[in-house]
Amino acid sequence: MIEVTGLSKRYGTYLAVENVNFSISKGEVVGFLGPNGAGKSTIMNILTGYLSLTQGTVTVDGFNVIDNPEDVKKRIGYLPEIPPLYIDMTVKEYLNFIYDLKKVKFPKTAHIDEVMRLVQIDHVKGRLIKNLSKGYRQRVGFAQALIGNPDVLILDEPTVGLDPKQIIEIRNLIAKLGKNHTIILSSHILSEIQAVCKRVIIINKGEIIADDTPEALSAKLSSDRSLTARIVCSEEEMLAALKTVKGVKSVVCLGSKEKGSYDFAITPMENADVRAAVFERVSERGRTLLSLADNSLSLEQVFLRLTEQDNSEARRMLGNLEEVLEEAEQNDLDEDASETKEEVEE
Ligand code: ADP
Ligand code: MG
Repeated sequence: MIEVTGLSKRYGTYLAVENVNFSISKGEVVGFLGPNGAGKSTIMNILTGYLSLTQGTVTVDGFNVIDNPEDVKKRIGYLPEIPPLYIDMTVKEYLNFIYDLKKVKFPKTAHIDEVMRLVQIDHVKGRLIKNLSKGYRQRVGFAQALIGNPDVLILDEPTVGLDPKQIIEIRNLIAKLGKNHTIILSSHILSEIQAVCKRVIIINKGEIIADDTPEALSAKLSSDRSLTARIVCSEEEMLAALKTVKGVKSVVCLGSKEKGSYDFAITPMENADVRAAVFERVSERGRTLLSLADNSLSLEQVFLRLTEQDNSEARRMLGNLEEVLEEAEQNDLDEDASETKEEVEE
């Protein structure tokens, strides 16, 4: 649906976007994640044909943004960072105005009514936009993007400045629209992207440094996939007991950090969830599990780690960690193989 190849954008001498490549299929909901100034709005403005590009090719549904801007604009509904609202108009007047501007062909009243129902603003259609709350204004912004039924929605920081309740409402609206639209959504907030997107493109200093599912990204970057268990027990006994729990790869005692208890770092085998089994083993032994914590990084931490680095360093981290994980897996297999051999010998 959207193909971007070798895209660069210069503002004067400043290179804001550098050699960006990605493609988005029909129906995908993709998040652009990056700190302020990363280049998210610049890329979005180029996709929508509102900003020229310095180098590269961008096509939407096969139409080139430079050669066929009208065909591209017809397919895209755009909600810019600051929605282009005319606040002295009523909601209905404004949407009628947008309808005319976009030269939409659907039956006018029915189409506008349908859009207003979809974003739930029909009950405020007679109100002046300037008298609406920020959350409602944002919905009017969504409505203007939806006029003309575009296949693609480009939403630039759609929840900025909203309160938590409004954020949830807008998030639900995006999830609803995601069922029959291709959506690109930008944010500098992780949870935002995680909540609605199955794919995240991390943009930093004008470059793409990662493009993956939220889960894969945290898995790649969290070399530490261990759990920490705090157990009231004796050290030797519990060490032996934990090592034989199904799915556990290794256990190390971290010492005693709370009187009467020991902390154990438990590393599970690839993809194994050993929490329930650890709990059961501890209680079988008549011991008390005080806490069980997951040491893997949240996506928030992954994002911070990546964007704190130079892009080359961030890529190295992503690349290397993949290697590190592969190596660890290989070692696992080797260990398993040697264990089997020993058993046979016994
Ligand atoms: P984001 O949306 O990720 O916050 P932007 O795309 O708005 O980032 O900006 C990327 C970089 O380009 C920033 O350093 C910004 O200052 C710069 N920039 C954006 N627009 C202009 C412009 N019109 N002229 C010069 N520099 C700009
Ligand atoms: Mg921006």
